[in-house]
Amino acid sequence: MLKIGITGNIGSGKTTVSKIFEVLEIPVFYADNAAKKVMAEDTVLIAAIKSSFGAEAYFKDGTLNRKHIASVVFNDETRLAKLNSIVHPAVFRAFDTWVGQMKNAPYVIKEAALLFESSSYQMCDYSVMVTAPLELRMQRVIQRDGLTRTEVESRNARQFSQEKKVQLANYVIRNDDTELVIPQVLELHRQFLSLI
Ligand code: ATP
Repeated sequence: MLKIGITGNIGSGKTTVSKIFEVLEIPVFYADNAAKKVMAEDTVLIAAIKSSFGAEAYFKDGTLNRKHIASVVFNDETRLAKLNSIVHPAVFRAFDTWVGQMKNAPYVIKEAALLFESSSYQMCDYSVMVTAPLELRMQRVIQRDGLTRTEVESRNARQFSQEKKVQLANYVIRNDDTELVIPQVLELHRQFLSLI
């Protein structure tokens, strides 16, 4: 199965682009949603998180205490790396299982904010980077989530730079209001179909 990774920095529009591929009947695995799911359901992972972040990482009803985890990792690179090293393999396993179920699709997409940072692009055949200027991305996220500029900047600073990811990616989609997005997606779809 041909696997395409789609990524982009905060507010770039990677989810928007992925949804256009879904309209073309291409299955999309949303890695961030999958991470939330495995953190809620994967018992081996839950035990590992409790062992590293304390029993208070989960509430008594079994739901994840996001505030606790966020407060521990927010300004601590080492603890964040530790969390990622526990969660990412579980997401990789979930992706493998999901791909196995998508037998009738011509190809599949993995949408992941940290496709390059987590090395999960190595599990994909090709990668697509969605780009937009920082100012436009800021405006989109401020409008969507009601975050402050400082909060968006701080999240952006924790990702590889857009320039670095463009160099690592096989394809780039510009979502900066200067080029229409749908024709760019259709062209990539045509190319991916020609690869199978
Ligand atoms: P994040 O990393 O924060 O999850 P993302 O890269 O997945 O963001 P989206 O959620 O797709 O980005 O887009 C961010 C916001 O910008 C959304 O509210 C989306 O509707 C809007 N947006 C994205 N692309 C465009 C566009 N071309 N025109 C108008 N609005 C757009």
